[in-house]
Amino acid sequence: MELVRKISSPNETVASPLDIGSINYRGYVKVPDQSPEYLSPANATLIDQVVSVQTIQAHVNLLIRFTKRLEQNDSTLLLGYLLRAEQRYILWLNLLDELKPKPESIPIPPLDVSVFWSAHMTNPSTYQEDLIRMYGEHMMSYDFPLIRMDSEIDTESVTIWQEYSKEPYLLEYKDDRPFLIRCPFCMKDNLIEQEKFIQLKMKLGNHQCSRCEIKLDSDILSSKRMLNDIENYLKDERKCLAGTLLNDRTNKVDYRHAKEENRLLFDQDIIREIIRLSSTTYTGKPSPPSLYIPNIQDNCNWKVIREEIIRVLYKLDSQSELSSLRKDIHDRVISSYEHLITPFSLDLIGTVLRYKDAVCKILMNGEDWDEEDVLNRSTTRYQKFLSLKRKHPDKGLIPTVDILNCWFIHMLHPIQYQTFTLSLVGKILNHEGPLDEKKMVEKFAKTCLLWYKNYNEPYSSDNPSKEWKKRKSRIVMSVVFPVYGLFVAQKLWKLSKTHDKKMGNGSTI
Ligand SMILES: [Zn+2]
Repeated sequence: MELVRKISSPNETVASPLDIGSINYRGYVKVPDQSPEYLSPANATLIDQVVSVQTIQAHVNLLIRFTKRLEQNDSTLLLGYLLRAEQRYILWLNLLDELKPKPESIPIPPLDVSVFWSAHMTNPSTYQEDLIRMYGEHMMSYDFPLIRMDSEIDTESVTIWQEYSKEPYLLEYKDDRPFLIRCPFCMKDNLIEQEKFIQLKMKLGNHQCSRCEIKLDSDILSSKRMLNDIENYLKDERKCLAGTLLNDRTNKVDYRHAKEENRLLFDQDIIREIIRLSSTTYTGKPSPPSLYIPNIQDNCNWKVIREEIIRVLYKLDSQSELSSLRKDIHDRVISSYEHLITPFSLDLIGTVLRYKDAVCKILMNGEDWDEEDVLNRSTTRYQKFLSLKRKHPDKGLIPTVDILNCWFIHMLHPIQYQTFTLSLVGKILNHEGPLDEKKMVEKFAKTCLLWYKNYNEPYSSDNPSKEWKKRKSRIVMSVVFPVYGLFVAQKLWKLSKTHDKKMGNGSTI
């Protein structure tokens, strides 16, 4: 029997044509009836001491537990659970910071906390900036205890967590205790019902502080958070603001440059004035409240902050100091605070939901995760992916699910991951953020072609030309220039060699 596949060398006998509109290009080829090398049993590779068959197995088991825990059709219940888990994640980081357990024997975190911790880690630069800014360098030494998560929970971990956090170890969906918000003006801890807290977080509601009576919504809470951070910076120049710490070239924290930018942006009379107008030393219930409350609410919001920062930029421009700032630095700072009421510089709930989608893809497309060969091959393919990244550091390569799984595991070891990717490509490698469909299709096609060019084997079991053709078909139909038609034909023929369905579900995107 002869197999007909869209792989192998173009010099071999052509069996059937690839039909593209009016253009026929002979892209199908006959190949001998034997498995090519990329389908034969693979040996496992150990990458950076952390990506191995053992860690892949432990990671897949963990991801299965994550998806089971996050299976919830009632969106209010799911959001309530995630908001509570986010607060518990902050408690977890506080625990590591205060108790300073040995990195190799940290307690096992509760499952909901683990979801947030690993999702945060899949944004390596932001994770690094957040942890160093909020706690200090020492927090980077904590790896996610992947292998230990795969065994029975020890009672010691449960006790340490419960004693420190005063929280149950297992977070239940039916947990409807009120949430706590500390008023950033009078520092009063306010209790707020779950439903109201969800509305506040979704920018749909507010809560009036029971002491100073200021209406707290996500606008005023997040803008006050930024102003408080500026105030802290003005007292101590090492406390730079979120969004300013990362070096553009390396994605690594760079205090020297950050201090200079913070000084230029925030050590300004204009900024001191908004801080003054947005704060009060609480001395008791104001009488009448209208004497100062409107004053704070009129000054502590994003509209005012944006306007005042623009004024600072104009001032710097007039003093010829604007060139010392990165062009988008003010936007970066604002996006690290705007409508974010937790101390993190990204929307962690959104990050967890995207992480959940990626996890589902890994599990749904990889029902053969318990096959030794799939596990072995994914380690070698991840190594090849990293080599490709080294050759093309500026190309946004799209990982297949088996590669993504290994990539996530690598990121769960922050210091090792940083050191490895810094030496690989000169910067901390970040996983691409969410892409729109068009960009995704283009980048996937490019990744397939690069892979084939470098390794002379298909990249994925998904067919990149199917999507690519769909996107381009309207253009192809209207095209009159044969040169463009030829370009499309060549592109499709090249893409046809970059995939093979026989590669199995693990290699889908
Ligand atoms: Zn208050």
